[in-house]
Amino acid sequence: MEKVCIIGGGVAGLTAAALLSKKGYSVDVFEREELLGGRALTLDPSELSLEEYHKLLSRFHMHIPFSEPSIEEVFSENLLDGYYIDLGYHAIGGGEYSNINQVLESFNEKVEFLESFVGFIKEDGYDYPFLSKIDKIRILPNILRLLLASEKTLQKLDSVPISETIKKYGRGKMKLILEVFSRSITTVNNLDKISTGEMIRAQRNLYRGSKPVGYPKGGLRAVHGKLASIIHRLNGKIHLSKPITRIEINDNKVQGVVVGEEFKPYDIVISTLPPQYLFNLVDEELFPKEYTRALKTLTGTGSLCAYYALREIKPGLIGKTFHFIERDIGVDGDDAVGMIDFMTASPESRLSPKDRFLVQSYIICTPEEAKDKSTLEKLREILDKNLSILVPNYEKHLEWSIYPAIWHLDGVAKTIDNPKPSIITPIENLYIIGDGVKALGIGFNCAVNSARLLDEYLSKT
Ligand SMILES: Cc1cc2nc3c(=O)[nH]c(=O)nc-3n(C[C@H](O)[C@H](O)[C@H](O)COP(=O)(O)OP(=O)(O)OC[C@H]3O[C@@H](n4cnc5c(N)ncnc54)[C@H](O)[C@@H]3O)c2cc1C
Repeated sequence: MEKVCIIGGGVAGLTAAALLSKKGYSVDVFEREELLGGRALTLDPSELSLEEYHKLLSRFHMHIPFSEPSIEEVFSENLLDGYYIDLGYHAIGGGEYSNINQVLESFNEKVEFLESFVGFIKEDGYDYPFLSKIDKIRILPNILRLLLASEKTLQKLDSVPISETIKKYGRGKMKLILEVFSRSITTVNNLDKISTGEMIRAQRNLYRGSKPVGYPKGGLRAVHGKLASIIHRLNGKIHLSKPITRIEINDNKVQGVVVGEEFKPYDIVISTLPPQYLFNLVDEELFPKEYTRALKTLTGTGSLCAYYALREIKPGLIGKTFHFIERDIGVDGDDAVGMIDFMTASPESRLSPKDRFLVQSYIICTPEEAKDKSTLEKLREILDKNLSILVPNYEKHLEWSIYPAIWHLDGVAKTIDNPKPSIITPIENLYIIGDGVKALGIGFNCAVNSARLLDEYLSKT
């Protein structure tokens, strides 16, 4: 039986572990943290001190530039008790969010999802859904074109920036849709960097699903819990608080890994770290120079998130998700897109105590902008302003708010100038998966799809 080591117990590692255990591999997952989930981790903050929270966030490339009241007071007054906070999460986008259920269904398991259309916040209110029936009829010819475009056509469009396509074809609401959705499905604001081909592929998936965004009932922990129980059932092993310190390679072939001080032999090693961090674990001299350079220069995407805990909310908002666009604010790409999500305010998300409502939101920025205090201040104002359009005078109902900033929302940005690497590396039996590699979708979906790609690849070889 071939022995597989998976480095990382995030969604990519757990999906791969379940699929490969089913194929008969002997699988060990090593996770650095005490908890599974990686960047899709659900935290019970009552179990963490402020110091532990800060340290955990920094290991995931995050920090908290703002909160209300101060983060010290939030912790000393135990304001987070009874809430579950995703490390940083909003919604699983696109019709393809059901992908995780395609994986789970192959094990006769399923996670129920809350689902939402996308609403749109305007200066004086909102449209929900964003597209009315009349809009849909008007843009039907364009939608049909999207659905029918061949892969060959899409490949030609891969190197065409969406900004050019918008200039040529974007009129009225179609222009707005292209501007907002191409940003939200890549978490990149600069339209010159977004590929038209990728945008169309992603849009096609949206139209395949009945509603374009979803959030698991019971929170993201419901997904990890299901995957972990499948892995255990199939005799796979999950080792928590066990960071891998080294991947051993000899003669261009993987030999095993070092856990703490101990060498453990493996036939196959799968890293789920963002690819640019692979060389923290392995000697870069063992790889072709071109490959090393390509991986090390990859960049992720950033965002400022806001979690608002509210005492009161209009029932009509619960379960709905809204996008907004803020123009000419001087970020990369000038305009910035964000989202405010009330799916997490639904009692079915089970993220907040009774009679409290957790609202998650984010605004897209670059990794550099996510480290720049004055940009973050501007982005915070925009998030607060858009929430106040949906919930006027929300401050009156606010129990607390926390604003995490992140510079690895996506391990690698899906942009024209930042080609994501393949799951296959130049080293025999060393593979990389996760949201930083080339697979359908971004974020959570990309992580799941990369694990499925690897499973298919190993079945063929
Ligand atoms: C703030 C924020 C908001 C987000 N919002 C969304 C969203 O709305 N929609 C969406 O689709 N995606 C979103 N994402 C992205 C999504 O969370 C990630 O794409 C997804 O969780 C990545 O999964 P992964 O398994 O590829 O990587 P990770 O989750 O990063 O998993 C890697 C794992 O490896 C572990 N690890 C690292 N080093 C070692 C080591 N040496 N040894 C052992 N283990 C190690 C880490 O602890 C981690 O658990 C968001 C991310 C953040 C941070």
